[in-house]
Amino acid sequence: MDDKSYPHLLAPLDLGFTQLRNRVLMGSMHTGLEESRDGFKKLAAFYAARAKGGVGLIVTGGFSPNFRGRLHPLSAEFSSGRAARAHRVITDAVHQEGGKIALQLLHAGRYAMHPFAVSASAIKSPISKFTPKEMSARQIKKTIEAFARSSELAREAGYDGVELMGSEGYLINQFICKRSNHRYDEWGGSYENRMRFPLELVKAVRARVGRDFIIVFRLSMLDLVEQGSTHEEVVLLAKQLEQAGVTILNTGIGWHEARIPTIATQVPRAAFAWVTEKLKSEISIPLVTCNRINTPQVAEDILSSHQADMVSMARPFLADPDFVVKAEQDRADDINTCIGCNQACLDHVFVGKRASCLVNPQACYETELVLSPAVSQRRIAVVGAGPAGMATAVAAAERGFNVDLFEKNDYLGGQFNLAMQIPGKEEFRETIRYFSRRLEQTGVNVKLGQAVSVDELGSYDEVIVATGVQPRRPPIPGIDHEKVVDYQTLIRDKVELGLRVAVIGAGGIGVDVSTMLTEPEHQSLDDWLKDWGIDKSIEHAGGLYPHEEYVSQRQVWLMQRRPGKMGKGPGKTTGWIHKKVLEKRGVELLSGVSYDKVDDQGLHITVEGQSRVLDVDHIVLCAGQTSVDELSDALKAKNMNVHVIGGADVAGEVDAKRVIRQGVELAAKL
Ligand code: NAP
Ligand code: SF4
Repeated sequence: MDDKSYPHLLAPLDLGFTQLRNRVLMGSMHTGLEESRDGFKKLAAFYAARAKGGVGLIVTGGFSPNFRGRLHPLSAEFSSGRAARAHRVITDAVHQEGGKIALQLLHAGRYAMHPFAVSASAIKSPISKFTPKEMSARQIKKTIEAFARSSELAREAGYDGVELMGSEGYLINQFICKRSNHRYDEWGGSYENRMRFPLELVKAVRARVGRDFIIVFRLSMLDLVEQGSTHEEVVLLAKQLEQAGVTILNTGIGWHEARIPTIATQVPRAAFAWVTEKLKSEISIPLVTCNRINTPQVAEDILSSHQADMVSMARPFLADPDFVVKAEQDRADDINTCIGCNQACLDHVFVGKRASCLVNPQACYETELVLSPAVSQRRIAVVGAGPAGMATAVAAAERGFNVDLFEKNDYLGGQFNLAMQIPGKEEFRETIRYFSRRLEQTGVNVKLGQAVSVDELGSYDEVIVATGVQPRRPPIPGIDHEKVVDYQTLIRDKVELGLRVAVIGAGGIGVDVSTMLTEPEHQSLDDWLKDWGIDKSIEHAGGLYPHEEYVSQRQVWLMQRRPGKMGKGPGKTTGWIHKKVLEKRGVELLSGVSYDKVDDQGLHITVEGQSRVLDVDHIVLCAGQTSVDELSDALKAKNMNVHVIGGADVAGEVDAKRVIRQGVELAAKL
């Protein structure tokens, strides 16, 4: 075992009645396939690929044990023999690949987005539309019975275990915390009473499934909301859960309504492993830790320093199904790393779309987006080695085409080279590393520093133009003043800015630049936790304590012409974080702005009919982009097969998710 690079990660875990092949748990993720037509076949292919890739224990997305517990009226439920039979295709596919899989049972409680929502008390959550009905004692017992019945059915369906979702602010968590449990009966009031629901639940499930079935309990160890649990309470519950028959305790961090980032890319890697570690000496069953673990080394460090017995990773398995196999083969550099962007996974699920992955568009499309071997040998030129060009070149080469990739710069990665310099977006570097490796391995002929001409492209069977975008220079009088700099020059050339800065354009890049300009330098993990008011002792309820926030020395104005809300950035699950950070840093947001001129005094603007001069040292242009394509018209005129993709195709709202998918889909069809 010790000659492996990740001996702790790859060590088997003996659960007594069964063994897991390593310490990797693939955390629960809703994919959207659970409810879609033919979804189970696609889910089977999705999970089978991860089992083949070496995952120790897969946990499915959440299924409700009854109708009221569904997140949406049409969300998946697992409560009948019919459902158990339908799930066979999933469990069989995973077992055929030598994997193990547990079904997650999730009752949404007050997070249910329908009028039949129920909870411990009739208290609406700040993120819900519906006020739940308080459950009667009879309803509580019936719900416990529903969990037990679903667990029994999971066993019949061939699952190796169940995970009971007791964190993130769902029903079980709602019973545990005072915040959402104001009952006076035996299910509320004292902590002993508030623990009764999870404990009775585990006892009922254990009694029904027998001793040789995995029960994972996802315990909220750091609620990050007011009136959440303290560490002392967590320890008490964990000990009793162990006695009640839980096999493995998984960690939950933060309720959905918490206003502290817990998994987004801004969160430092392994930022919450210390939470699990606090419980480690208190219980003897295996403990799983999670959140922002995305490389084998980060996982190995956690396990070798005894912070946990297993690590849970969810999104990293969307990004790369072969994460574990590559770690086993000591090929960590070949892993397509999850960059924590949420753009194609959680942001999709929250708007009812199928999950996938920005860096791996084949995720959840295993049976549809297939790179089959090419039937004829063709020469393909890809021009531009940004995310779109790199992904297309790799996918085409994987199919067996002969691919040349031209890039006018002497480096790969295009706009990702800018993104990775934004504080909290360093992960983009990993994507450049991954695609660079794949270009090498798939034999793509990379020609850096070559601004290829139309004539040089004449001999190719297909030309793919992926020449990207350039920053827009809006026609504002005085735009060429020395105070003005575009975002690309600012980041690329590391231009030193003064203490008063105006940012024109409040899209994703304007928000990122404003964050960068007001960010404290060299934050340690402890600084980051402190900045968000997280109490490492967890003596305060929910792990929150009153704290002093970092105040930026620099004053920044972020502006857009559109009236109304601004500053949220593109993603549903990350927009609020951007907004909160700008607020914390004191960035002044101005919408409905017209830009009158720039001169030595600064930026002259009109807002709501009032003229103002922002006496700033610098003005940064983040006013969107325009396409760069100097090739396609000339190539088409020569009757060549030309495809324009990425920002060169459409510059408006260009984002890496769209352009990588577009490139891989094109390569699949060539
Ligand atoms: P964007 O989101 O399209 O925003 C462009 C901004 O410029 C808008 O605020 C727009 O607002 C303003 N603007 C447009 N034309 C203008 C003009 N002629 N004069 C003055 N202002 C003008 O583009 P972006 O910020 O450049 O971002 C590009 C893409 O990168 C985005 O689509 C995004 O998906 C991606 N991105 C994503 C993230 C992320 O965190 N996921 C971060 C950064 C970038 P008004 O027209 O109202 O003035
Ligand atoms: Fe990770 Fe982004 Fe892919 Fe989601 S979309 S799995 S966060 S890289």
